[in-house]
Formats: sequence, C-alpha cells, structure tokens
Amino acid sequence: MKYPPINSKYPHMLHGGDYNPDQWIKNPEILDEDIRLMKLAHCNVMSVGIFAWDALEPEEGKFQFEWLDNILDKLADNNIYAILATPSGARPLWLAQKYPEVLRVQANRVRNLPGERHNHCFTSPIYREKTRLINKMLADRYKDHPALLAWHISNEYSGECHCPLCQDAFRTWLKQKYGNDLDKLNYAWWTAFWGHTYTDWSQIQSPAPNGDTKIHGLNLDWMRFVTHQTLEFYKNEIAPLKEITPNIPVTTNFMGTFEGLNYWEMAPYIDVISWDNYPQWHGNRPDWELASDVSFVHDINRSLKGGKPFMLMESTPSMTNWQPVSKLKRPGMHLLSSIHAIAHGSDTVQYFQWRKGRGGSEKFHGAVVDHCGHENTRVFNDVTEVGKTLEKLDDIVGTTVKPEVAIIYDWENRWAIDDALGPRREKKDYLLTCQSHYRPFWNRGISVDVIDMDADFSNYKLLIAPMLYMVRPGVTERIEKFVKDGGTFITTYWSGIVDENDLCFLGGFPGPLKKVTGIWSEEIDALYDDDVNFIVPEKNSTLELNDEYEAKELCDLIHTETAHVLARYKSDFYAGRPALTVNEYGKGKAYYIAFRNNNDFLDDFYEILVDKLSIKKSLDTQLPLGVTAQLRTDGENKFIFLLNFAPQKNIVDLKQVEFLDILSGEKVSRKIELPGYGLRILKKVL
Ligand SMILES: [Zn+2]
Repeated sequence: MKYPPINSKYPHMLHGGDYNPDQWIKNPEILDEDIRLMKLAHCNVMSVGIFAWDALEPEEGKFQFEWLDNILDKLADNNIYAILATPSGARPLWLAQKYPEVLRVQANRVRNLPGERHNHCFTSPIYREKTRLINKMLADRYKDHPALLAWHISNEYSGECHCPLCQDAFRTWLKQKYGNDLDKLNYAWWTAFWGHTYTDWSQIQSPAPNGDTKIHGLNLDWMRFVTHQTLEFYKNEIAPLKEITPNIPVTTNFMGTFEGLNYWEMAPYIDVISWDNYPQWHGNRPDWELASDVSFVHDINRSLKGGKPFMLMESTPSMTNWQPVSKLKRPGMHLLSSIHAIAHGSDTVQYFQWRKGRGGSEKFHGAVVDHCGHENTRVFNDVTEVGKTLEKLDDIVGTTVKPEVAIIYDWENRWAIDDALGPRREKKDYLLTCQSHYRPFWNRGISVDVIDMDADFSNYKLLIAPMLYMVRPGVTERIEKFVKDGGTFITTYWSGIVDENDLCFLGGFPGPLKKVTGIWSEEIDALYDDDVNFIVPEKNSTLELNDEYEAKELCDLIHTETAHVLARYKSDFYAGRPALTVNEYGKGKAYYIAFRNNNDFLDDFYEILVDKLSIKKSLDTQLPLGVTAQLRTDGENKFIFLLNFAPQKNIVDLKQVEFLDILSGEKVSRKIELPGYGLRILKKVL
C-alpha cells in the first residue's frame, strides 16, 4: 500500500515554490540571496521557468540557456531540486507577430492580440512545432542535470480556441466519433429542434454567442473536443521529454474543479497529478466548512490516479491578489492548510510564489520572500515552520488510503446540468450538492474517494451519486452489479434524466436507474428561494430518522414501484407523497432522496448509514465540530492527521489507545488538546 516517491532520487516530502529567476537576470545578487533564503526556509524544490520562453529564445532560433544553467547548477549545489517547466503557457511576442495563426480566437470569432498568457491555439501546427522544439532543447540540455526532478508541463491549461484550424479539427473529431455518419450526429444532437439539421459537415461550427448555443449535444461534444485537443497539445509537449528523459515524471497543474477540462480524460497521460489550491479562508462561513469543501477537491486529485499521492503545486504562503478580497492567513492557518493537503494524499507543499516581482499584475500576490527582501517576516517564519514539519514526515511519503465510501462528481454530468434550462435556472448547484453529501463524512473523520461515473465501484461499501443527471452507457449496469453484490447506493432528485448525448430518457425518470431505485419520478417541483416544505419520517421504518426536515429548491414527485417509503412530504399538493425511499436489490440497497435538503438531514441520514454499514473512521471517537481526522497508511502503520479548522481550541478523546505524536515525539492517549487552527499527526502500528 505504498507508492514510490515522485522521484526516487529524493524520497522526502517536497517543499518549495514557483521561482522566476528570469525576472531577475539583471540582479545576480538577488539570485544568490534566493539560495540562502531557500535553505533557511527548508525548501528543497523550485518550479523553474514556467513563463520563461522569451528568456530562453529571445529571437526565433536564437537560444540562450546560460542563465538557466547557472540557476540549476546553483540549486543542485545546494541540494535543491528543480521541477522544470515547459514554457508554452506564455509565448514570446515575436512568435505571434511572425505567425498570427498561433493566436487564440474567441467564441465570437475575434482573434486575440498578442500578450497575456494561456492565449494560444491548441491546434496550430506551428505552435505545436515551436513548443516541441523548445521542449526538446530543454530535455537535451538538462537530461542528466542533477537538479532535474520532474517536468512541469505548461501552466494551468485552460480555455478554447475557435479559429478555422480548430473548427476543422472539431469536424474531423466529430466525423471520427460518428463514423462519418451525419444522420447519426443529427439524431444525437436532436437537430430537428428549431430546424437545425446539418446537411454537410462544413456547416458545423463551434458554439458561439453570436451563433448557436442551444444545441446541447453540440455544446457537450465541443466541451469534449476542447479536452481532447488540449490533451493532444499536451501529448505533443511531452513527446520529446518522454523520449529523452523517460524516467523523469511529468505533471501539469490542474485547477481543482475547473469546469473547462475533464481531468479524468487527462489523468492517464500524467505521471503524477498536481493542483493549485487557493481557498478564501476566514470569510463569512466557518473555516471548517470551507476546509471540508477543499478536502473534497484534494480527494478528487488523489482519486484521479486511484489513490496515488499527488502534488500541491501551488498555494499561497500568505495572500492572493486576484480574489475580491485578499485576507491574510491568520496565525496557524498556513501550517494547518499546508498539512491539510498532505493529510489527503499530497507528497508536496509548494507555493506561488517564491519571491514577489517588482512589476506586473502578480507583484502583490503572496510570496515566501516579500519586497523587503529578508527573512524577518511572519510569512517567512510560517513557511519555515512548514518546511521543518515536512522533514519529520518521511515515513508518510507514498502512503495512501483505501476508502469505503465514494462520491461521484462527474465533469460531463456537470456540463450537462449547467446547460439544462429548467427546472431552475439558478442554484442548480451540482458541485455544492456533492460537497454537502461529503461533509458528514469529513465531520466524522471518514475517508472518501471522489470519482467520476466511469470509475470502478467494486471496492466501496457506499456509493453516493447526487444529481446523476446524465447516465452514460454501462454505468447503470455497474451500479446494478454494485448493489446486487451488497453495496449501498444513494442517489437524489434530478438523476437519470439524459444519456451521454444529453437526450432525455424515454419511459419515465430516473431512466435506466428506475430498476435499481424502484421508483418512478413523474414531475419535479422547483421552489422559489423563500419557499419551504418539510418531510416527515415514516413511523417504524427501517431508518430511524426522528425529526422533520426541511425540503427546499427542488422536490421530486415520485411513485414507488418496488421501493419502500422512509419519509413523505408534509405539505403542498403533494403532501403524503414519498420523499425518501429505499429499494432492496440483490444483497444491497438503493436509497432515493427526492428533495433538496439542508445539512441537518444529510448529517442524520449518513450517521445512520455509517453505523448500519460499520464504515470505518480514521479514529474511533466522536470528533468535535470543526475537527477532522484523515488517514494515510502504508499497510503497516496508520498515520492520522487531526486538523482543527476552528479558531478556538478543541479536545479530542483518543480513549485508551496509545499513539505516537510524530511532531512532538511524545506518546499520547486519552484526551488531547488541539489549539485553534492547530493540528497533530499521530502514528499507530497496525
Ligand atoms: Zn485554434
């Protein structure tokens, strides 16, 4: 149950940040000072050269690597490793001036001007060739460099290009997908609606605000194509690296639940997943609620490669500069939020950015080294504390967790829900709904995988699929098998509505899930924001819910077929109709939650299920509100991360069990204290 380290030449937790020496070439004294400060901050890795193309190739075909040689040599001499970037995220101005086809075209068909970043066409043969060339030169030059630890491919891939080259590529992709059969495409996209039937492939255009946006099948296929084409661009980038440096892992930094790319499609081609995490701490809602939502995203990143540790590629050491309000992290939060990532399976804590630049839009974004230039700052001390803490966690490198619970959060499903008009245009809230189903497990210290609907379900006891609006081919069969074999499946209102082409299922909702859920949904009621209904638990049902619970926003009006009723609506014209049901199916059960609810319902509901199914907790105790316990294990030892996201102290009862507190070196048992925003890392031999 242990994965190898990201690179076996350095089997330790990684700590460092995005480093832009290319902005300081004229200040050699700063570069020397950087190395001194990196060692002082217990940093061991730097991401280098992310936007450095114009420093590497100032004129077409004229390369200068000496500054980078110098930096990498200095890093290596000081036992600091480099995650070396390919520079495609930002392009030299000469390149666009000479080859305008590399410039991205917006959905309204206006071609962008040079500048900015992430502003390239992902189809352009010239851009692909130029990218491949610079990447090859980097790989050739640094393949044996002792500092080279991993490749950082481009930066935060995102966006779309609607240029003629991309339109052609889209049509080619469609022809392949639909077997060159335009009738098949017309049917899948339901183009008879508004008389949009295509009679020639050349009529197909990507969605546009001044063109078509209402053909949902087109929108969905375009989103799929954007992921496909981005992935093709990525594959072109890594080809020379894989050839020249086959043993150096490649990653590209994801952005959490960024909607524009289906990360599940990309994950198989990435050696180690990494992501950039910028939560807005200390806001209007409790930090622990936000922490639970962030945990959900960490768990996606761990689940993307079946439990393999990931990298926290970017986080801020203090503040951001691009959010509406950039509040400073309160004392304790930097260490806590950094170890939070480790608790969920990261083997790194990295920052954007190492040093604040003097100009440009990121000059006020938090950095380890501020404009004052020295180490005598609160932030520098916080970062140093993280570095020293990570040095005590060697045993945890490569460890993982095998959760018994999984929640399905699916990108294509999200695209389809976001596109749907009705029953509510606002507050469709797919992501928030999934995160609300996650929170009861976080509060109890129960590990959860967050997967897409094509993942393997067989290792879980409990599978939760909130708002499974789209059901792709094969998914129903796998859910049915999961339940038949003894699994417990939960789904909700607004499930089983459309197929993979966004075409509604005929014969009653929840479409193919009717059999396993044993219900039929006749209508769905959308409530205004101020409306409220309630549900009333059935007396003597198999689920011991005590209270009435609020129903809001979406109320599914269902009939039972083979399912039993566990709760009913209290008022309105559907008073007495089923609101919560369970269907016995094979050796397992499928629950259907027909109403949107508040946290109190989900908390009580999952409390009962956790108990019934004997779902294992990271720690056998009741955790105070605001505290979670997350587990990593190598199969022989358990490492339990107790994280207090409340500003006040909390007590956790370890009962009679004795643990080693890894950070203090003490043995602990019974009641232990966690200061406000405090943490403990406990070890127990299994
Ligand atoms: Zn393009």
